[in-house]
Amino acid sequence: MNTYACFDIGGTNLKMGIVDSEGNIISFDSIKTPASYEETIRNISEYINGKKAQAAGICVPGTCSADGKVIFSPNLTTINEKNLINDIKPLTNIEICLENDANLAALGEYTFYENSNIKNMALITLGTGVGGGLILNGMLHGTEVSSFEAGHLTINSHGEKCKCGKRGCFEIYCSVSGILSTYKELSEGERLEHVGELMRIHNKNNKLTSLTFDIYANHLAHGLATIANLVTPEKIKVGGGLSEISENFLPQTIKIFSRIIYPAYKSRVLIETAKGKNKAGILGAAAYCIQKGY
Ligand SMILES: [Zn+2]
Repeated sequence: MNTYACFDIGGTNLKMGIVDSEGNIISFDSIKTPASYEETIRNISEYINGKKAQAAGICVPGTCSADGKVIFSPNLTTINEKNLINDIKPLTNIEICLENDANLAALGEYTFYENSNIKNMALITLGTGVGGGLILNGMLHGTEVSSFEAGHLTINSHGEKCKCGKRGCFEIYCSVSGILSTYKELSEGERLEHVGELMRIHNKNNKLTSLTFDIYANHLAHGLATIANLVTPEKIKVGGGLSEISENFLPQTIKIFSRIIYPAYKSRVLIETAKGKNKAGILGAAAYCIQKGY
């Protein structure tokens, strides 16, 4: 059985693992994302050289070109404009492939957690940002650049300005900072640092946090309905850090989604929580190596 060296470069952590072709994670490490690009390259190539792997797959939190260059990475600027494949390959001796993290999370979820009856599936990651990946006819959809930037669908054209330059993106409302700023608005200024604090308040049966989740569910439903109306996948999965508390907003999201989806598509698009959890990127990197034939 083939094994792959898999990397998920995030804004906070660099996750590294060895995954076999059935999706078993044989080893896993997570370190703080290095502050410099050079150190990132060194960490990745040393990991590859210290393990036995057929090929390497890398997830990056940005848009890349097919040849391995990161074109735009708003949340991890050290890798902007860098071609990771060109820089890592000479230091190792194996094939390397690279794609957007949410694209690969979708591919990993599809490859290792879906049955073959599903041919079209989207995955939306709800975390620091909102990302997306699309599987069409069993293959990860991509063009010359990573595609399906679902986080930048417009939810409100008069909304707050996004890092992409446009206003009112899906990501403004449905990322971690989105849900925290909704709570801040409702509580007239109470600033929370992370979702754990929101959950602590929510567990005391708090009206404002319940309202925060209702507003969140409404925005999420609108984003998901737009995706469903455009590509009509059999399933849309919800992943990323916020999916781990999805029981607080997904039932309400599905209710609204079922009401607003284009009438002809009602009951044709299933919404569920992704199973890949925090290993989704690593699994996706392995799935991408397999799709590439490595
Ligand atoms: Zn945007």
